[in-house]
Amino acid sequence: MTNDLSKLAIHTITNKPWSTEECIDHYSRAGVGGITFWRYSFEGRSPATVGRQAREAGLEIVSVARGGFFPATTAAGLQRAIDENRKAIDETAEVGAPSLVLVCGAIPGQALRESRQQIQDGIAELLPYAAERKVILAIEPLHPMYANDRSAVNTMAQASDICEALNSHPNIGIALDVYHTWWDSELEREITRAGAFGNLSGYHICDWKTPTSDLLNDRGLMGEGCINVREISDWIDDSGFRGHHEVEIFSNHYWSMDQGDYLKSILAAYRKLTH
Ligand code: ZN
Repeated sequence: MTNDLSKLAIHTITNKPWSTEECIDHYSRAGVGGITFWRYSFEGRSPATVGRQAREAGLEIVSVARGGFFPATTAAGLQRAIDENRKAIDETAEVGAPSLVLVCGAIPGQALRESRQQIQDGIAELLPYAAERKVILAIEPLHPMYANDRSAVNTMAQASDICEALNSHPNIGIALDVYHTWWDSELEREITRAGAFGNLSGYHICDWKTPTSDLLNDRGLMGEGCINVREISDWIDDSGFRGHHEVEIFSNHYWSMDQGDYLKSILAAYRKLTH
């Protein structure tokens, strides 16, 4: 599959300086197979129209990022999160994406187990609505450096525990991001587990640069850092996952570049990874 880009997808935030329309146009012309929309990409637009534009350009709509942020310290806060997630599910259904990525949330000072329970309860409450709208709620485990304030779900095992506690409902899934999970000694086994239960629904790729200037906005292109992306991709394939490999890179460095040149670098890095 040396030059086959049909299983490559790109997150719109990867090319943040481009408008929604520019992302669709450039990815389509480059032969990229799929696109994942960040919700800001819908600002001032109708998700249904954006979805139609992407499909007409030959792109498969892979996912929407992102919902989640379930934990709260008050009943009103928990309810606000549910309401906001219903909106995110609506946008996902309207654009025509099969899944919504969840950054699950955490509250500084609140016990992680309590946050995890709130996350599980929140997802459970949303599942009937997600099923009605044909949207998979994809838990994305975040690196433990975010456990305090962005996600109490930090490993594939914790994500699978939640999925399995909810009977691996057809509308629940896991989005695995190599940036967040590559360090985990249980990763291969947990990918196999998630695949066996039918819970693996998304795969995000990038790299971890050393040294890194910023742990959020200095992600690298695949091959530029220390992550064994190729090996993880093999595990993903072996698990039965047949979805897109989604390039999701937050990078002040790359955002400051000419985005056309940067897209060429993304394609080259992907080809090198898959040849
Ligand atoms: Zn991700």
